[in-house]
Amino acid sequence: MAKIRVLIAKPGLDGHDRGALVIAQGLRDHGMEVIYTGLRQSPAQIAKAAIQEDVDVIGLSSLSGAHRTLFPKVIEELKVLNADDIPVIGGGVIPSEDIPFLLEKGVKQIFTSGSTIEELANYINQLVGPSHQSITNKISHIGIAVNSIEKALPFYTKTLGLELEGMEEVASEGVKVAFLRIGESRFELLEATADSSPIHKFIEKRGEGIHHIALDVENIQARINSLTKNGIQFIHTEPKAGSHHTKIAFMHPKSAHGVLFELCEATGGEEV
Ligand code: ZN
Repeated sequence: MAKIRVLIAKPGLDGHDRGALVIAQGLRDHGMEVIYTGLRQSPAQIAKAAIQEDVDVIGLSSLSGAHRTLFPKVIEELKVLNADDIPVIGGGVIPSEDIPFLLEKGVKQIFTSGSTIEELANYINQLVGPSHQSITNKISHIGIAVNSIEKALPFYTKTLGLELEGMEEVASEGVKVAFLRIGESRFELLEATADSSPIHKFIEKRGEGIHHIALDVENIQARINSLTKNGIQFIHTEPKAGSHHTKIAFMHPKSAHGVLFELCEATGGEEV
C-alpha cells in the first residue's frame, strides 16, 4: 500500500531546523514519506506545498513563539485552497496554556517537546492510517451455490478430504449453509431453502458454482464508509447478521469487476 505522506513545515522566522529534521527522519524510520519544506515558509507556501505534494497530514513546528498566529493561518490558507481536509498537527516549543486555543482553531493535536517520535508516529497512523491499510489480509470464506448440500457434500468431504465443521440455516437469506474448513479459510456450500432466496435465483440463472468471495475485515461499518467514499457501491450499506456470528455486507459486482465480494466481520462467539 502507499506510504503515508507527511509535510513537515516551519512557518515563521526562527532559524533552527534541527528539531524538524529529527522529526522528519524519525517519521521516515516509521515508514512514512516525509517532505520537508525548509525554513521560513509562509502559511500560503505551506498550504500550496501540501497540495502539490499530495500529503495526508501537515506537521508544523515552531520554536519562535509565533504559533498562535501562524498555525491558524496555515489552516486558513488550506481553507482558501479547498484543502482543509488535510489535517494539521503542531509541535515545538508551545506553552500548554496555548494548546486549547490552537485546537479550537482547528489544529488536530499538539506535540510538545516532551513527546516521543513513537507517540507522533502512532498518532499519525491512527489519524490517517486506515486509508493506507489493506482492507483485508485473509479470505474468510468462498461461498458456493449448490442445488443440494447433501449431494454436493461427498465431493468436499470424501474427494477433497475436507472437514465438515457444521451446518446452519440463515432464514433471513433463505439458505442452508455447510461450512468446510480449508486452512484458515472456509468453503461455504449454500443451498436455497426458498424460491425467493438469492441462491435460488443465482442457480436458476447461472447454475451451480462460485457465488461470492468473503473478505475478513475488522470494523465493517468503517470499511463500508471509506469504500463508499471511494465510489464503491454496496448492495446494502448497513451490515447485517451473517452465518457463524458474523456481520456482513455485499459490494455490488458492478463495483468489483464482476465479482460478488462480501465483507465479513467476526463478532465473537466461537472463533471464526
Ligand atoms: Zn458469505
